[in-house]
Amino acid sequence: MSDVILITGGGRGIGAATALLAGRRGYRVCVNYRSDEESAEAVAGAVRSAGATALAVRADVSRGAEVERLFATVDAELGPLTALVNNAGTVERQGRLEEFDEARLARIWAANITGPFLCAAQAVRRMSTRHGGTGGAIVNVSSRAAQLGSPNEYIDYAASKGALDTMTRGLALEVAAEGIRVNGVRPGLIHTAFHALGGEPGRVDRIAPDLPMRRGGTAEEVAESIMFLLSPASSYTTGSFLDLAGGR
Ligand code: NAP
Repeated sequence: MSDVILITGGGRGIGAATALLAGRRGYRVCVNYRSDEESAEAVAGAVRSAGATALAVRADVSRGAEVERLFATVDAELGPLTALVNNAGTVERQGRLEEFDEARLARIWAANITGPFLCAAQAVRRMSTRHGGTGGAIVNVSSRAAQLGSPNEYIDYAASKGALDTMTRGLALEVAAEGIRVNGVRPGLIHTAFHALGGEPGRVDRIAPDLPMRRGGTAEEVAESIMFLLSPASSYTTGSFLDLAGGR
């Protein structure tokens, strides 16, 4: 039986690139999405066209019942989960901290913190030798923002990724002896539609001239590092982070 991977928010951007690469590497792929069914189905279709097994499953990762149903669907349709990519994440309009209200903060924490926690819990219940599993790997998609803080843009987003980094470290140690590796990637400025959510679709091009490598990154470059951290090539790596930010 081949490896089974679940990629949250896999319908576009970094998640879509990861789904396509995982399919090429022989994984059976679940593409999760929250609302954009058309894009997620197109990604699953592209993975199938390349010869791999894939399905798209709708679930808001911040809702426990939907996450349970998502993982149960993977069990039934693809078999035992061996890899989870906590990729789904969101951001809101750029601004200063004093402009952020309670509702906005709740939305950011729910998608970027609660979601990865709920998905990791489901994955551990399946992968851990403590629960009768045979092991696996988890990659959390954080951000360089966790360390840079995103002043004048979205400190709330940056803080949510800081929380995710703390979870990566803690969970890696909690399950290190149970066959599960947990690592993180911290992308910098990557060319995806993500920046439009913050109100500046051209953000990467604006900042690129000031980056050490003078360019933004691609979703495919991030996908390569995610797949490395899931693969046996990184078998002695856990609780670690790869910064994918062109030197920033
Ligand atoms: P994107 O193109 O906006 O994709 C985000 C994906 O997350 C979408 O497919 C969206 O699904 C999904 N999503 C959001 N909230 C969700 C929820 N509650 N439940 C399920 N799915 C949800 O962004 P991206 O650039 O590929 O970002 C992917 C990850 O990389 C995010 O965690 C982001 O924080 C991180 N990151 C991105 C950059 C960058 O420069 N692009 C830099 C650092 C880190 P729907 O479309 O179906 O709603």
